[in-house]
Amino acid sequence: MESVPLHPLARQRTVRLPSNVGIGPRYVPPRTCRKDVLWAGLTLPLVAGLATTSRAKQKLSRRVQRAQRAQRVQLYAGPSAQEYDVIVIGAGLGGLACAAALGKAGRKVLVVEAHSVCGGCAHSFTRKAPGGGEYIFDSGPSILTDMGPRNPLRLVLDYVGASEYVEWIHYDGWGMRTPEGPWRLEVGKDSFRNDVLPRYDVPPEEFDEVVKASRPLAEVGRQIPGLVLRDDEWQLLPLILKFPGGLVPAIRDAPKLSEPFSVVLDQLEEEGKMKKGSWLRAWLDALAFSLSGLDCTGTTCAAMAFTMEELHWKGSRGLAYPKGGMGSVVDALVKAVEKHGGEVCTKLRVDEVLLEGSSAVGIRCSKGEVRAREAVVCNAPIWDAAKLLPKDAVGLEEMKQDWQDTPMTRSYLHLHMGLDAEGLDLSKLEPHYTSMLGWEDVTAEQNMVAISNPALLDPSLCPPGKLVLHLYGAGNEPFDIWENLKGDDYEAMKAQRAQRLWQALEDVIPDARARAEVAMVGSPLTHRRFLRRTAGTYGPSPLFGRFGPGKVPFRTAGDALPAMRGEHGVDHLLLCGDSTFPGIGVPAAVVSGLSAAHTTMNVWDHLELLSRAGY
Ligand SMILES: Cc1cc2nc3c(=O)[nH]c(=O)nc-3n(C[C@H](O)[C@H](O)[C@H](O)COP(=O)(O)OP(=O)(O)OC[C@H]3O[C@@H](n4cnc5c(N)ncnc54)[C@H](O)[C@@H]3O)c2cc1C
Repeated sequence: MESVPLHPLARQRTVRLPSNVGIGPRYVPPRTCRKDVLWAGLTLPLVAGLATTSRAKQKLSRRVQRAQRAQRVQLYAGPSAQEYDVIVIGAGLGGLACAAALGKAGRKVLVVEAHSVCGGCAHSFTRKAPGGGEYIFDSGPSILTDMGPRNPLRLVLDYVGASEYVEWIHYDGWGMRTPEGPWRLEVGKDSFRNDVLPRYDVPPEEFDEVVKASRPLAEVGRQIPGLVLRDDEWQLLPLILKFPGGLVPAIRDAPKLSEPFSVVLDQLEEEGKMKKGSWLRAWLDALAFSLSGLDCTGTTCAAMAFTMEELHWKGSRGLAYPKGGMGSVVDALVKAVEKHGGEVCTKLRVDEVLLEGSSAVGIRCSKGEVRAREAVVCNAPIWDAAKLLPKDAVGLEEMKQDWQDTPMTRSYLHLHMGLDAEGLDLSKLEPHYTSMLGWEDVTAEQNMVAISNPALLDPSLCPPGKLVLHLYGAGNEPFDIWENLKGDDYEAMKAQRAQRLWQALEDVIPDARARAEVAMVGSPLTHRRFLRRTAGTYGPSPLFGRFGPGKVPFRTAGDALPAMRGEHGVDHLLLCGDSTFPGIGVPAAVVSGLSAAHTTMNVWDHLELLSRAGY
């Protein structure tokens, strides 16, 4: 049975009242028992259990549900104060990283999230397993590279004090399902170079040339850690004082990092170091596509060089998955926000950014107006950010239009599954697969499907003897074919389009349909609704050569500021999230959050934060 996933309340819905006041929702990580919810959560079901007739039980159970709903509404009543130093709109990874860094710098922060759970694209949700227990699903990301000390996500988690809450499980490769048959992509250089490439008639030396060209780029990226980012005239100071080795590369090489990776590959072809039409290029396009939703012409050298390094250079531990699912990273960031005294309100949509003159001074939501003394940071995707600016604001039309016109990548098709694994030989399965129908156009609709099988790494994600799977058409689902569908037409389209996902799964587990206990197809409309993404998009397409400094291809944190927009800018309004530099992906989103946080504070506070983090 297929259904649109309801928005997951189960895992992260527990809320508590702030300790200092009598009202106010605060997000609390899962499995936390609060006295405030005990009344609805325990007492009423207990009373319900005493009812003797089934009719009485039904009536009482309805009353229980109503009371629980009412309780929730009350609990989600609003922020605990009317004024904060900084308000962050959206509890995606970018917004949470931003809030945690600001809290660490001593700011009083409020994060306002429209949904009932935090995490945006990266939230986890649960469904009951028929035989008891629950399946924990990742709604989006599942692939992260090595969490070694130089990994940007790890750096950010350390920086904001969230690392202690995440436990990483490492693994070393994933399964490929291709028209030529199955093979394994192993972390490290040798297996790919010596075993995979010959299968596709690619001389290993071609790969050596790609490594040679991208390795220095990866090194430059490493020398300029995301922790230094800020988007104002002080941006070089943290680099000079804390990471002096990065200064020359930053000035000399940063523009190269912002070019599309296809430029590197074109040059190798021109120099005869890579054959035109080589399968290696198709492979790199596929890798790029899985990162950014675009092939190498739309993916930056920085992203590709970083990923190649993480996958293939010696010394990498490969891939990492957070114990408890991707929601654990979200939980960790929320805990870091709260640890530093910040508040996270869920189920509260921001309707408008309040402006006074040309300054952002707060937000308007259903609970009224909340003021921000220092800044408002918007983590909503850029198309939605445009809608949050007041309709009647004079002089902002151009910026709003510019934001709305940001080109976007396509959407997703999902299949979330809980599956009975009895009798399956788990030792023959991989924690992740990529299924490809062909190599001619790796970005073609329904061509590439990702299959995440994380319970192989973390069995606690489902009851014993089960598996939890997430299949997705990776950024290759058009929105327009779904846009106006409703009712039976919508269901029929879901059934039809999901065939490709089922087939990809059956290639790995032939009797998967018979084993399915829970199966939910999510469409681009699901994406739009639950991830609050315009047209269900994966994220923005880069605009190469457009944004300064160094002409990064994404908007930067200060895109709205007068320094960028002149008299038609908005002071004290910052942006973060994957609509901004460095772009799409979990590590990039958290780095963008730091950039916004640092830009709201003076450079000395930023330097102090770096010192406290040991730099
Ligand atoms: C299916 C899928 C698979 C992916 N796989 C990977 C992967 O394997 N590895 C990887 O590194 N990356 C992956 N990504 C990308 C990565 O997950 C995202 O780039 C990242 O999570 C985006 O974070 P963000 O901060 O931009 O926030 P978002 O996730 O966009 O969150 C923004 C938040 O703002 C909230 N919001 C919006 N408007 C309002 C409003 N008006 N009021 C209040 N709140 C509002 C939203 O509800 C949302 O919670 C994947 C993404 C998807 C969708």
